[in-house]
Amino acid sequence: MGPLLRLAAQCHLARTWIALGVLAPVGMLAASGLMLFDLRQDAWDKAQQTSRNLVQILERDIARNLEMYDLSLRGVIDNLKAPGLAQVSPELRQLVLFDRAATARDMGVMIVTDENGDSLIDAGAVPARKANYADRAYFQAHKAQNNLGLYISEPLFSRLLGSRMIVLSRRINKADGTFGGVVLGTLNLTYFTRLFSQIDLGRHGAINLYLHDGTRIMRHPFVEGDIGANIAQAPTFQGFLREHSGSFVHSSVRDGIERSYSFTRVGDLPMILNVALSTDDIEAEWRVKVFVIGGIVLVLCGLTIALSLLFGRELRRREAIQAELAKLSLTDALTGLPNRRAFEEAFIRASVGATRSGKPLSLLIVDADHFKRFNDRYGHQVGDAVLQGLARCLSASVHRPHDLVCRIGGEEFAILLPDTDQAGALRIAGKVHAEVSTLAVRSAGIGAGAVTVSTGLASRVLVEGERPALEDLCRLADDALYEAKAGGRNQTRCAPPQHDVPAPRQKQGLQVVGAS
Ligand code: GH3
Ligand code: MG
Ligand code: MG
Repeated sequence: MGPLLRLAAQCHLARTWIALGVLAPVGMLAASGLMLFDLRQDAWDKAQQTSRNLVQILERDIARNLEMYDLSLRGVIDNLKAPGLAQVSPELRQLVLFDRAATARDMGVMIVTDENGDSLIDAGAVPARKANYADRAYFQAHKAQNNLGLYISEPLFSRLLGSRMIVLSRRINKADGTFGGVVLGTLNLTYFTRLFSQIDLGRHGAINLYLHDGTRIMRHPFVEGDIGANIAQAPTFQGFLREHSGSFVHSSVRDGIERSYSFTRVGDLPMILNVALSTDDIEAEWRVKVFVIGGIVLVLCGLTIALSLLFGRELRRREAIQAELAKLSLTDALTGLPNRRAFEEAFIRASVGATRSGKPLSLLIVDADHFKRFNDRYGHQVGDAVLQGLARCLSASVHRPHDLVCRIGGEEFAILLPDTDQAGALRIAGKVHAEVSTLAVRSAGIGAGAVTVSTGLASRVLVEGERPALEDLCRLADDALYEAKAGGRNQTRCAPPQHDVPAPRQKQGLQVVGAS
């Protein structure tokens, strides 16, 4: 059988369809699983790319503004060294010292203090507004250390304006190098709130700006309590310190929400900026896809399995019907015995076996005597009952599994006896006569002994290459049956023995076995 034919034959098998019905959904699940895994990866890649870009844009804005502000502070320090500055009027001095940066939006105050922390020159007023900054940490730090450079304070409340701000300050040295005060500029936190509030980061997203010591300068979304909090010990903050910039996923110490953090140092300033997107928000869209695609795939898998099972069941039903039909086509409806077709098929199998084994194969043809009379006298139905009785008698006469009793015609039966010589077959014929002698149909008034049969027996050892056809053995048995009929019925006659094989031990010629 070619591969195509084999495939076509497989398609008719119920188990092939059931196997397909299981394999196809497994394939579908694997493919959609891979696809969903890929989509999740895409969602993460997109989110991380977005937050990296955001961090860069925000960092550039903050760094540029603070550096410009710092330039102004440096300008003040440089301009303080200008000769004759002490002699000019306070208004002119203010003009000389401060550039326009000091008046930019979100810039609070810019003040020069003396070594005691008292305001000396004020960018916003002439004369300077009275205030003392000696207690501020940045003042103490500059006083204690000469080369601090730019100092950025933690979030404070402005003494002059009352608003939230951070202070950028630099030390002023006197001509002899000793501490001469500080120049300070304040930056309102509104700068950061406005900058960050333009950005939508989902329900649990956040932007944070920290000082290097872990103090939070600003958080978006804004919560008052977050400002000034120190998270130096948090694992997330430790992560920010490890590299100049990068990203990682971690749970927040603040609210326990897992987020993907993209962070960077802000220019060369002691500040760290991060954009954090919550894992939930990143995967939200993907989860909807999982729900929809997964749902559809599961429904399709269910349908495929259900249809395959139904189809498989239908095929099984058909297989069962076909098997039943095949059985019926080989069975005689009246007696339930195998019919003539079954007999012919069984004979072919038996003759092959007999040829291979070299053992004799015997055939008995059994015909009811004067059966027509039963029909005529008792009617067809009673005749049928007699035929059923005869079938039972014949079946009761054989015991070996390969012995086969068939109804091959109206009131004619065949008994095929593989591996049985003539003597054995004669014993079976004797049993047949004995069984039939007990047959009675009480309801019709047919008593035991009323029904008799005549039997023709043929027994042969089959030789390879000379296998006799079914017709030959049947003809021999028929001839013997004819002899039995002619001899007075209710007896068995045997076909003449074979000449080309050793003769069986019993008497040569026709044998007669009478029932009585
Ligand atoms: P003989 O002893 O020579 O065999 O005589 P016979 O009457 O048995 O033989 P014959 O061939 O003359 O008649 C056979 C009869 O069997 C004829 C037919 O009506 C009857 N017969 C065949 N098949 C059936 C059947 O299925 N049911 C019934 N009731 N009778 C059947
Ligand atoms: Mg007959
Ligand atoms: Mg007949």
